[in-house]
Amino acid sequence: MPVDLPSPTVRPSVNLTKTYDVVIVGGGIVGLTCACGLRGSDLQVAVIEAQTAQQAAGRQRAYAFSPVSASILQGLGLWETVGPQLTHFQRVKLSDADYPKAITFRPEDGRSDAVYYSAEHSVLMSALQSAVRAADNIDYWCESRVLGSEPAGSAVDGASTQLTVDFRGDRYTFHTSLLIGADGSRSRVRAQAGIKTFGWQYWQSCITAVLAPEKSHRSTAYERFWPSGPFAILPLPNNRCQIVWTAPHDEAKAMLALPREQFLAELQARYGDEMGDLTLVNEPMMFPVQLMHSREYVRPGMALIGDAAHCCHPVGGQGLNMGIRDAIALSEVIQQAAQKGENPSSLKVLKRYERWRRTENWFTLSLTDFLNRSFSNRFWPLVIARRAGIWVLDSVGPLKRLILQLMTGFFGKLPAKAK
Ligand SMILES: Cc1cc2nc3c(=O)[nH]c(=O)nc-3n(C[C@H](O)[C@H](O)[C@H](O)COP(=O)(O)OP(=O)(O)OC[C@H]3O[C@@H](n4cnc5c(N)ncnc54)[C@H](O)[C@@H]3O)c2cc1C
Repeated sequence: MPVDLPSPTVRPSVNLTKTYDVVIVGGGIVGLTCACGLRGSDLQVAVIEAQTAQQAAGRQRAYAFSPVSASILQGLGLWETVGPQLTHFQRVKLSDADYPKAITFRPEDGRSDAVYYSAEHSVLMSALQSAVRAADNIDYWCESRVLGSEPAGSAVDGASTQLTVDFRGDRYTFHTSLLIGADGSRSRVRAQAGIKTFGWQYWQSCITAVLAPEKSHRSTAYERFWPSGPFAILPLPNNRCQIVWTAPHDEAKAMLALPREQFLAELQARYGDEMGDLTLVNEPMMFPVQLMHSREYVRPGMALIGDAAHCCHPVGGQGLNMGIRDAIALSEVIQQAAQKGENPSSLKVLKRYERWRRTENWFTLSLTDFLNRSFSNRFWPLVIARRAGIWVLDSVGPLKRLILQLMTGFFGKLPAKAK
């Protein structure tokens, strides 16, 4: 039952209690990917999203999208729609501030036709939303906000949850034996389960903006490590580029407050002249940056995926890619258990997902933290070591390929849908 129609004039005549095998709270990219992974199974699934479908798809952000995420979309049958709308990076250049030598990754250093991709939020969301709407076993509840959850008696070998949901002003009660929290970094599902997190806020914020450069971006992405923080350029279709510019809070705030011409001059100093003059396409936005890791991913009858389970520094473009791998890993674990006649909501089954994903995510969070701290400074012994490292990594092929494997997610256990 797709119920994401905009502003109804007539309230549906409804039974205000709903029962599903699986309820996914959060219909962002990660929640919808998990739902897509459960398409065609015997499980009845609900995705509950607080925003309208249009709002949820309307976020102005593009992501560095890894080849493993691309293979997952292929496994889900969505690549034919999404692939042609992404920019396929032909080069990724990593460099230390304005030092001219860079490590250059090319497709032949990896396992795919592109080093990485850039994917706009709306492109990914509209493909996932269409797939979920077309699935017989999934109901997509938009404009539905989960207000609270509590245990609702005991299910066989697991817990059963009762959710209170506000759907356009009506209070619904949802019962489920498996609750999946895909509700972002301030997850209500995580908080209500009392799951503690580990982490910190960084001293930096990041500014994003979309630009139109005068000359071609040649499908090249850049990550430049300035002492104030990493500065990334992602090439987008129609010769646009998105920047992700990290700087200490005060500096980032001051940049945003500058008149547009001065802002562009500061931006150009970090961007370089390779693409000529820059024109702003949208209003720059600022985001806080944090590292957060949930101490547990699962409880009986409950699991966390995506930003609800972990958040990291945007350096290296890892956050969404980790979340997509969580989503598909969890859907695989659940389906395999159901096929074997096990209870998918039991702790024994859900722990398989936690063991699979948590260590790999720890590694990625540590890597992003290490990159940010070791590059965002002017400490001269580190500057010398970094620059020497760039020469070594760029010239030793096997090392370069290893780094690319680490950054693209090919290092960990791959879901069946990504092989
Ligand atoms: C500036 C910036 C740049 C980034 N760049 C990259 C990149 O290049 N590559 C990359 O991989 N990652 C990147 N990330 C990280 C990436 O944006 C996140 O990891 C990703 O968006 C998380 O997706 P999610 O679906 O888990 O959470 P979200 O996108 O936060 O989605 C959560 C959804 O849950 C819904 N929701 C919340 N509470 C409720 C409720 N109570 N009831 C119902 N619905 C609810 C929300 O409306 C939302 O739709 C970047 C992050 C930032 C800040």
